[in-house]
Amino acid sequence: MENVRTRFAPSPTGYLHVGGARTALYNYLFARHNGGKFVLRIEDTDVIRSTAESEKALIDALQWLHLNWDEGPDVGGKFGPYRQSERLSIYHKYANELLKKGNAYECYAYPEEIEQLKEEQLNKGKPPRLTYNDVSRFSTFQRKRDFERGGLKPGVIFKMERKARVLDDLVKGRVRFGENAAGDFFLLRSSGMPTYNFAVVIDDAMMKITHVIRGDDHLSNTLRQMTLYDALGFDLPKFAHVSMILGPDKKRLSKRHGAVAIEYYRDSGYLSEAMLNYLVLLGWSHPAGKEVLSIDEMCSAFTIERLSSSPAIFDGVKLKHLNGLYIRHLDINKITELTIPYLAEAGFEVGDMEFSWLMKAVDSVREECTTLKDMPEKLSIYLRMPQPDSYTESLLNTEKVRESLIILRGKFSQAKDELTDEDLTNLVKDVLKEIKIKGKVFYPALRYVLTGKKVGPKLLSVLSVLGKERVIQRIDNALNE
Ligand code: GLU
Repeated sequence: MENVRTRFAPSPTGYLHVGGARTALYNYLFARHNGGKFVLRIEDTDVIRSTAESEKALIDALQWLHLNWDEGPDVGGKFGPYRQSERLSIYHKYANELLKKGNAYECYAYPEEIEQLKEEQLNKGKPPRLTYNDVSRFSTFQRKRDFERGGLKPGVIFKMERKARVLDDLVKGRVRFGENAAGDFFLLRSSGMPTYNFAVVIDDAMMKITHVIRGDDHLSNTLRQMTLYDALGFDLPKFAHVSMILGPDKKRLSKRHGAVAIEYYRDSGYLSEAMLNYLVLLGWSHPAGKEVLSIDEMCSAFTIERLSSSPAIFDGVKLKHLNGLYIRHLDINKITELTIPYLAEAGFEVGDMEFSWLMKAVDSVREECTTLKDMPEKLSIYLRMPQPDSYTESLLNTEKVRESLIILRGKFSQAKDELTDEDLTNLVKDVLKEIKIKGKVFYPALRYVLTGKKVGPKLLSVLSVLGKERVIQRIDNALNE
């Protein structure tokens, strides 16, 4: 497909919702699959709710997911600016054009009056629909003067065609809108700010967006937007409306269902690879049914035809499971790097740790972790000397355990500094042979003495990660109690 251009157009009014992240991912993948461009546009025309901190948080979360954009407020591009608040003169120009052509009219009503109008219609059992007749009565000489004095501009309202219309949506198929499906709507508010439906059309057209992939909660807006495209003489992009993500109760996924912010998952020790993998499958499937997918595999397999038209259910347990899988299989260097901040946060002194040693330690415990947050506790067996307790005492009093430990200690102190797995295996086996203690008695006791835990990584890994010096220290510590 030629010159594909997609966009993600979040409003910076909070965090990045998992649904938003999925939309961003689909737009990213579609652009990448087709060798096109992916644009980030910040829709910040809701001045009260939009904040610079939210924009930063959104950008950070998208960067954490590695959904890199080719054009956007931070990287620029030839169709900028990419922040709607910086494009006001463009919207005004087109609003004037529509006014001149007779496709729009001015409105001198205050927002409360518009609300009241809609309420009256609702009370009469009618759907709330604005018309010129409803608002023209506010255009009195007095009102115009009040507006002028208050520094207000008349709102601009688009005259919506009242005719049935069809949208051939790439996901939903043919969608029919009845002739009264939408009434007239605001293009500009009296504050001079554009509405979402207006700004989105101007920007998608100016930014040459070819495919609009977004949630199907925007379907009814699409009718308004299509009519605007026609009135402005712009070519329509293709629309693909993806189904909502639902909670387990089949209601739209929201905070009520638990964590929905990407930032929460990032900060709770999820891997961006697992997150992307989980998100892509919430509404899309791989042609060969693959469930574990790298971003490159997603890019090469992604087509809109495989987007599902039915809603997906968000399953936090499945996401966690997938995260565990990624922790176990991703490059160990990377997992170790990612673990360091969690260790620091848990109060461990990471400055002196040797990276290759830590890598070995992480590798030995990653089987047991489902998020990176589990790492400090699992790694603590290597980082803290266990405190002997009554259980240690009872183990030491078990027949031959104390002697076996003494023999093992002796063997360690005579061994070379660097011990291979084979050396370690032989060393322990020799103890068993020498004193005729059963493995099933000795191994659990040795594990407890070395780690202070009854379960954990393979004993061989524990010995290997701890190394000669620490093994000796820990045995001494237990024996001397
Ligand atoms: N700013 C809109 C939103 O966050 C964008 C919707 C669209 O993609 O058109 O819902």
